[in-house]
Amino acid sequence: MIRSSKGEFSSSTAIVTVSTGVLASNQIEFEPALPAPWRAAIEIERMSESDALDFILARLEKVLGSGIRDRVVTSSRTRWGCDPHVLGSYAAALPGRSDARTQLAATLGGRRLFAGEATSKAHYGFAHGAYLEGKAAAERVTAMLSS
Ligand SMILES: Cc1cc2nc3c(=O)[nH]c(=O)nc-3n(C[C@H](O)[C@H](O)[C@H](O)COP(=O)(O)OP(=O)(O)OC[C@H]3O[C@@H](n4cnc5c(N)ncnc54)[C@H](O)[C@@H]3O)c2cc1C
Repeated sequence: MIRSSKGEFSSSTAIVTVSTGVLASNQIEFEPALPAPWRAAIEIERMSESDALDFILARLEKVLGSGIRDRVVTSSRTRWGCDPHVLGSYAAALPGRSDARTQLAATLGGRRLFAGEATSKAHYGFAHGAYLEGKAAAERVTAMLSS
């Protein structure tokens, strides 16, 4: 059963394609709750505004010298992390957790699949990676329903 603001839908299987940022925000409630390996696989990289500026300035200093800090009068950046439908740009696996993409892509309980750029091992971070993962998930559901 899928409950949403648009009503309730009954289905034996579901493909979840929201970003890992949306998954990590717990906007979507899963019953039963996602098992630990799936929760651990939902990783995103986040930086505050000031940390992001420091990060960039530190790199600019290496190239242009320490005087660059005084010359920067203002800064701006995109805010994909604040868009409630995105909550990030794309998924970044933490160091040593490259297996998280495989874990997220695993079929859960024979009925639920996650798909998107985050589950792609070869083309993560790209639109075509998301497309190919969605197509592969749909083919897996078709095979499951036909067997
Ligand atoms: C600034 C920027 C530039 C980029 N440039 C490129 C580029 O040049 N080339 C390229 O290949 N890729 C690019 N990408 C990456 C590409 O956009 C992503 O890899 C791709 O969109 C990921 O697709 P997805 O389906 O996994 O997730 P998304 O595109 O995030 O799709 C998830 C969907 O879930 C929906 N959703 C969210 N919350 C809910 C909810 N609670 N219930 C139901 N639905 C929900 C969203 O509205 C959205 O439609 C760029 C990304 C960014 C941020």
